[in-house]
Amino acid sequence: MDGRDKPGHDDEIDDLMSLPSEVDVAIIGAGAAGLGAARALENSGRSVIVLEARDRVGGRAHTVQVAPDVTFDLGCGWLHSADKNSFVKIAEHLNFEINENLPPWRERAVGNAFPQAEAAAEEARNNGRDCAASTFLEPGNRWNPMIDAISTYINGAELDTVSILDMEAYEDTNINWRVRRGFGALMAAYGASCPLAFSCEVRLIDHSGKRVRIETSRGVLTASKVIVTVPTNLIADEAIRFFPALPEKVDAARGLPLGLADKVVLALDEPEALPKEGNLRGATMRTAMGTYHLRPFGQPCIEGFFGGRFARELEDAGEGALAAQAIDEIAGFLGHDYRRKLRPLRESRWAHDPFARGSYSHALPGHAGARALLAAPVDGRLFFAGEATSPNFFSTAHGARDSGERAVGKVLAASKA
Ligand SMILES: Cc1cc2nc3c(=O)[nH]c(=O)nc-3n(C[C@H](O)[C@H](O)[C@H](O)COP(=O)(O)OP(=O)(O)OC[C@H]3O[C@@H](n4cnc5c(N)ncnc54)[C@H](O)[C@@H]3O)c2cc1C
Repeated sequence: MDGRDKPGHDDEIDDLMSLPSEVDVAIIGAGAAGLGAARALENSGRSVIVLEARDRVGGRAHTVQVAPDVTFDLGCGWLHSADKNSFVKIAEHLNFEINENLPPWRERAVGNAFPQAEAAAEEARNNGRDCAASTFLEPGNRWNPMIDAISTYINGAELDTVSILDMEAYEDTNINWRVRRGFGALMAAYGASCPLAFSCEVRLIDHSGKRVRIETSRGVLTASKVIVTVPTNLIADEAIRFFPALPEKVDAARGLPLGLADKVVLALDEPEALPKEGNLRGATMRTAMGTYHLRPFGQPCIEGFFGGRFARELEDAGEGALAAQAIDEIAGFLGHDYRRKLRPLRESRWAHDPFARGSYSHALPGHAGARALLAAPVDGRLFFAGEATSPNFFSTAHGARDSGERAVGKVLAASKA
């Protein structure tokens, strides 16, 4: 992702700002978790800086205006579990109109999509052994490929790589709302008052001395406390390093890889021919397929969603492959005519994004406990937040935001001790 279509970013202010040489709290990453942490520290009397590698806030929340009449979220779009979602109040406070229409899909509800999963999780809990979620699939059931496709949308990964206990720990209330102006735009407004340093990639966190020393692409600073919110794949790949090394964090992050979900938006001619907020999903016997949202908010477009290994294959095939696949599938369902009615506007490439390296975390079989390990502070000075550290709302933006706030609670408690 780049900052081409960034809402809420002001280059001039940021680029003139030099890094402070020392702060009380440094927050690494200006996604939902980092912004949640920064907002929670707002009246704490501490000096704070959010160090962000990109030239915009939001991380995996990014709204782009792809046409005058089409707003598109490249990342998160839904306020999942809206009745427990902290962004709902934030949206109301910031005057972002919330759309409460039911989504055209229902599969975020793991229990509903996979009623057998609950029984399998119960069994895993009873015999104390986590296992792959695919174990609940009835061998030879003709619906298995489609169930697996749904897993790629929910988890970003096929069921054979997903922990059954972790999947069942997700708290879904079945209420899913949206923000008309875009979730990324909401995130940018939420972060507008935060002390931010953009284009500031953190490379090393040296916690060997009295103060924590942070090496960045824009120079060095020290902090009393650090809150790390970068996606797990960056910790797992040691793209951001610790000295002394923290092998337990690297291991925890490796147990919580980011799966892949990618989106594409296509402009639609003669939109009236299709229903607003419709859903289109075709081949039921395949895992390698997209799912389509027709005319979201009534806009003249179709959004496609791909997950798991198929999304990776499409990304690897290069820019434009998602759009080409989507057009092929839609023309297959609705008729050849749609080839001329559809035009690619934009597609995401989250696996190739160097500061995300994927879409959202899932626990590998046997690693359901990794979220708590990743979230645990180190020496009362290093704190960890981000969607992957949420015990019940992992993989979501509100789970990430709340985890930032939670980390601040630990920072403040550690300062008193
Ligand atoms: C396609 C897609 C669809 C989604 N749909 C939904 C949805 O409908 N609803 C929902 O709730 N969630 C959804 N999500 C998930 C949601 O977007 C994420 O869970 C959430 O935004 C993660 O927030 P975070 O703060 O944990 O991480 P991020 O948003 O990734 O923030 C981390 C920040 O750290 C920065 N960073 C990385 N490395 C460095 C470094 N070395 N130095 C400094 N900064 C660094 C990154 O640039 C980034 O800004 C979706 C995600 C994707 C990709």
